[in-house]
Parts: sequence; structure tokens; C-alpha cells
Amino acid sequence: MSECLFCKIVARTIPAALVYEDDLVVAFDDINPQAPTHTLVIPRKHVTSIAELQDSDIELLGRLMLTGNKIAKLKGITDAGYRFVVNTGAHGGQSVFHLHLHVLGGRHLAWPPG
Ligand code: 5GP
Ligand code: ZN
Repeated sequence: MSECLFCKIVARTIPAALVYEDDLVVAFDDINPQAPTHTLVIPRKHVTSIAELQDSDIELLGRLMLTGNKIAKLKGITDAGYRFVVNTGAHGGQSVFHLHLHVLGGRHLAWPPG
């Protein structure tokens, strides 16, 4: 997916503030943070949204969530609490069509979402 923004971040052809990476996922800080901690965890492979995941992606899905926990530890927000968000499709408010897990924290987050 040569035109995909997040594939370009994975390929290092555009810069990002990398926080963590391994064989399946890459994590970097959001360019427009909505909270003191706002990091995105994405699969290295191009997946348009979480709706596209297959049963065979169970390890990838687990890695995304567990990496979110790792990011929370790295950012020191585990005890205070944090939120994972996966916006999906038009009604879900997705704006970048490469699957990403938002890890948000560092302040009290309102609920319900808008
Ligand atoms: P979505 O709205 O699809 O759930 O989230 C997309 C997120 O990607 C937004 O929070 C937006 O700020 C972030 N974003 C968009 N472009 C870039 C970029 O070039 N670099 C980084 N680090 N984040 C980006
Ligand atoms: Zn992509």
C-alpha cells in the first residue's frame, strides 16, 4: 500500500515519534494528541480496519492489545488508567484507513464519547 500514510511510517519514508516496534506492530505518538499520552499501535502489514481482520489474525490482534498495555507502562499511566480506542469506518470516525489502536491517558477521559 504505497499510498497509505501509516504504511509509509512503517517503511520509515515519513517520520514519526516511534515508541516501540516488534515483528508484528509499530507504535508511535499521535501527531495531534488528544491527551498527555496519545500513542497509536498499528500492524506492520496493511489492514484497512479492525473489521477486515480474520480468524488467522488472532495473534496480531492480541499483540496490538498487549502492546497497548506495554505503551501504558512505558508512559507511566498504568496505575492511573487509560483507554484503548479503535475507530472503525464512517460512523466510527476513522480517518486513516490502516488499522490503529489509540492508547489515551494522562488525564481523566470523559464518557460517553461524542
Ligand atoms: P482515526 O481518526 O483514524 O481513528 O485516527 C487517526 C489518527 O492519526 C488521528 O488521531 C491523527 O491525529 C493521527 N495522524 C494522522 N496523520 C498522522 C501522521 O502523519 N503522523 C502521526 N503520528 N499521526 C497522524
Ligand atoms: Zn497501510
